[in-house]
Amino acid sequence: MAAGANLVIDGDRLVSRLNALAQIGATPDGGVRRLAFSAEDKQGRDWLVAEMRAVGLTVEIDRIGNIFGTLPAGEGAPVMSGSHIDTVATGGRYDGALGVIAALEAAQVLKESGVALTRPFTVAAFSNEEGARFQPDMMGSCVHAGVLSLDAAFAARDAAGMSVGQEIAAHACAGEMEPGTIRPHAFVELHIEQGPILDAEGRGFGIVEGVQGIRWFELTLTGEPNHAGTTPLSYRRDAGLVAARIIAFARETALSIEGTVATAGRIVFEPGQVNVVPGRALFTLDLRNPDDSRLDEVERRVMAFAREAAAAERVEMVVRKLARFPAVAFDADVIAALDRSARSFGHEPRRMVSGAGHDAQIMAGIAPAAMVFVPSVKGLSHNPAEFTADEDLIAGANVLLRAVLRLAQA
Ligand SMILES: [Zn+2]
Repeated sequence: MAAGANLVIDGDRLVSRLNALAQIGATPDGGVRRLAFSAEDKQGRDWLVAEMRAVGLTVEIDRIGNIFGTLPAGEGAPVMSGSHIDTVATGGRYDGALGVIAALEAAQVLKESGVALTRPFTVAAFSNEEGARFQPDMMGSCVHAGVLSLDAAFAARDAAGMSVGQEIAAHACAGEMEPGTIRPHAFVELHIEQGPILDAEGRGFGIVEGVQGIRWFELTLTGEPNHAGTTPLSYRRDAGLVAARIIAFARETALSIEGTVATAGRIVFEPGQVNVVPGRALFTLDLRNPDDSRLDEVERRVMAFAREAAAAERVEMVVRKLARFPAVAFDADVIAALDRSARSFGHEPRRMVSGAGHDAQIMAGIAPAAMVFVPSVKGLSHNPAEFTADEDLIAGANVLLRAVLRLAQA
């Protein structure tokens, strides 16, 4: 048996750190609001950096605000584990936070045990994973992996017109390190499932073999605002009607192409009055499928329909691509490390594909990567009621710890 093979995390410490972080940006309904690069995000960052230093990690922050805490050991590229601490506007306590705090807990256990590692271990917290305020999502890991430039990230603006560059400076979120400096040997991420499968099956956790492809679009339709009572239907250029038709067609397309989900999560009509034909409609589309060629077909059909529907109503359409991530297959060796770790606790691990986007799928572009999921009760996430039982949080963190140990001793 390898040295440290019986190590386990301190469950109370894990849960109490999760509780402490959940107090920052806490909302009255039990949820959390720590939007990327906000004052609350900065408070969370400062808390995390202090915890990392207290554990004895070497903290480095890069220019997009990604935070890395390294446990020096051995030599060469580190094994890295982490996630994000930003949330959506109405977020829960575990999305992202769990992956960062479980990695921190693993670092503390490894340090305190004195077990010999052949490589360093780095705990990572990536900036703006959610993309709730600034798109694209997974911004910090994209900049780290070199698929998004720092300039492009800094130029992204929120709905109020504030840029990432302004907000990073205003809240002192950035450090000096050039993005991408720490290139991991391997990357593992623990995350809540954010879907119903593990909870429904009564499983403690699942090993994630890949992430489905994701495409985000913003469609702006411009017609003509006019009187709702006097304008005959045939005279109208109703941007709202066209938006509604496209959204309904996206659902029909999702039903007809296996594995697809389609969502219009945000819509605005202008002028937005009860008795005025909408002159302008702006809405978003989120299209996903685990198979990129199927996703190509979904996009082709929806956009072809959108053009036809807009032309039929004499409405102009502008499509902006907000984010685009291919489907990702995770690394067999990292999956095997998680699998053996799970079995060392007597679990028969379930394999699954992630429906949500995660930093690990971006890190998979520069390092072997995989993920482990713990259940979300009733599949709820991006919701203040998001909940995972302590025993599942602890089981997931233990699987992560032993997988990290395997990878850092290999
Ligand atoms: Zn997340």
